[in-house]
Amino acid sequence: MSLQLFLVTLLISRSLGNPFCTRPKYQTNDYYTYEEIQEYLKGLADSYSSRVILTDIGKSFENRNLTTITISNGDGRKGKNVIFIDAGMHGREWITHTAALNIIDQLVVNFKKNMELLEDYDWVILPLVNADGYTYSRSGKVFTDEAIDCRSVTTLDHEFKCWRKNRNSKGNVCIGTDLNRNFGHGWGKGRSSTLSCTETYNGPYKFSEPESQAVQKVLLDLVKSRRGILYLTLHSAGSKILYPWGSERIDAENYKEHLEMAQAGVDAISNGKFKFPSNYKTIPSYKLYVAGGSSNDYAYKIGFALSMTWELPEKRGNLSFGFHPPTNLIKELVEETWIGIRATAQKVIQKYPIQKKSIKMVNKNS
Ligand SMILES: [Zn+2]
Repeated sequence: MSLQLFLVTLLISRSLGNPFCTRPKYQTNDYYTYEEIQEYLKGLADSYSSRVILTDIGKSFENRNLTTITISNGDGRKGKNVIFIDAGMHGREWITHTAALNIIDQLVVNFKKNMELLEDYDWVILPLVNADGYTYSRSGKVFTDEAIDCRSVTTLDHEFKCWRKNRNSKGNVCIGTDLNRNFGHGWGKGRSSTLSCTETYNGPYKFSEPESQAVQKVLLDLVKSRRGILYLTLHSAGSKILYPWGSERIDAENYKEHLEMAQAGVDAISNGKFKFPSNYKTIPSYKLYVAGGSSNDYAYKIGFALSMTWELPEKRGNLSFGFHPPTNLIKELVEETWIGIRATAQKVIQKYPIQKKSIKMVNKNS
């Protein structure tokens, strides 16, 4: 190979994905630990430095770094719209982190197949919000593929695995705040508790928790820079796509738009390649139940055009697994999630092209 040809090849390969570095291995055989997630992100940042930036956006109560990955197409263009995704706000919702890592893998490693999603949009992804709660939920025995009903926990091992809140131990009788009740809109309303020993304890005040503060900061920065279009928060389990409002029985001003965007994802999933595709329902959060202080409501309130909670499935065919899908289903579930999110993102990108983003017509009076 001539020197010129080698340099051209090197340049192309650096922009499309770098074969000269060792690619970090993405796997769906088992759930990643917090440390493995961090390691995976660092590996991507090393191998794809022209398209990936890691940012430590805060620390958890137990001092773990909370790290976002910003994915671009590497063209250096500033001011693109942004899709912001987070996962793992509740400790026991293990499948959500792997779904987030698969999205990252698709956009970074599988870039050539998905490059149109990064033409006018950057993606910011926080794969694990509740790093402490998740680590605690994994502190029992090794995962044994058992389906656990977290409504009737009888063993200590199941208590670990069913842990939902963060691990803040300051000043209360019991440990932990429900991060998805701690955000600043509608705080304290509906299914939300002031008792620290309950699963939905909303904290002593709005944004009392370092993890919700970290997410708030990203959301505010994206709204202030007028880049935040879609906020997607991954939860489990229940095959639902929820949109505002959750704190009151009111529909979002642009609920039809939410429905249309979400339905694109639902259709893609049901037309996908799976024998037992998930049957997602799209409803406003309040129809599931009224609960204030969610990140979904907050993101919409401060100015994201679209804000959705994706509740990943609780069953496959006749097999119910709740929050803990068996490891042999991880691959299929995260692939299905990507098919849905990809279709929704395509629709959002069409609807909110970069030059029209100033058209924020909604009057958010809830
Ligand atoms: Zn959840």
